[in-house]
Amino acid sequence: MKKIAAVLTATAFLFTCGSALAKENKNTALQNIKDRSKRTVRIKKANQTKHSTTQKDERKKEERKNTAVEIRLGQLKNGKRIIKTISLEDYLRNVVPKECPPTWNENALKAQAVAARTFALKNIGRHGGEGFDLCDSTHCQLYDESSHTPATDRVVAATRGEVITYGGQLINAVFHTDSGGMTEGSAEVWGAAAPYLAPVREQKQNTSPWTKKIHLDSFAKTLGLKEATKTELSPLTVGKKAADRSASGRVRTVKIHGKASDKKSAETVKTITGGEMRKLFALPSTLFDIKIVGAEVVFTGYGAGHGVGMSQNGMNELSKNMDYRAILAFYYKGTKTEKRY
Ligand SMILES: [Zn+2]
Repeated sequence: MKKIAAVLTATAFLFTCGSALAKENKNTALQNIKDRSKRTVRIKKANQTKHSTTQKDERKKEERKNTAVEIRLGQLKNGKRIIKTISLEDYLRNVVPKECPPTWNENALKAQAVAARTFALKNIGRHGGEGFDLCDSTHCQLYDESSHTPATDRVVAATRGEVITYGGQLINAVFHTDSGGMTEGSAEVWGAAAPYLAPVREQKQNTSPWTKKIHLDSFAKTLGLKEATKTELSPLTVGKKAADRSASGRVRTVKIHGKASDKKSAETVKTITGGEMRKLFALPSTLFDIKIVGAEVVFTGYGAGHGVGMSQNGMNELSKNMDYRAILAFYYKGTKTEKRY
């Protein structure tokens, strides 16, 4: 009995001691946590200060860099290449009125100014091999030093430093005259897909149909055929995909039946891409139908330009009741407008 009582006492002692020890350990641990958290807060604060100083420095550095951005502009004058260096903002004052009518409303002009600034910054050095950055033709952006107007000067100044970004990076802000109702994915035109250059359907089609007629003989000759007898292409519906049309309805390929230009004049079928067709016959776009009518080949279509990115006619329509930032986000999916300087 005594033995049992002793064991119980010892257990109680151990238990008491254990509990006190646990309490003491707990207190020490709590103190340690407090000390550690104090230290962590101190370190965090120090890091934050360091971090925000670094961020501030980086921002200042970038601001200085962007504010001082200069463009080596390669202008073609009387067949001669003249290179001059100008500030990015001055360059834009003479690009915006050339790229869209200066009579368009403020939202449309601002959308154009921000897209043109982003395009220029993203494409600096495009003509590096020729000793300049950007040319003054549609290849880069149209520029004419006598084109600036008070309205376009105002929008360039009002959007100063604003650019379009995707995931924090400058986008390739390509644009074109008229989408014909739906823009084209970049992969269809240039083979490289960009998430922000996906096809976009316009709610209201702001386009005019076009027609182009080519003499049948001249058409066949241009394609290296003796004779063209039949065209093969799915009928056009804007926004309807087919085996020979992209999601926007633009022509991927057309088949031309005819006779080969060799001695045998054998029956042949030529497959031509929409892009080749556009280039060969100077068509406004690849959003077209084709028919042989009598001695003529008749192209009927919509839109003007490659169709990728922002449509200028479309954004002019949207600008009647949409802010320029919303217009840019409509055409360049998933992007933001940011002020960089
Ligand atoms: Zn160029």
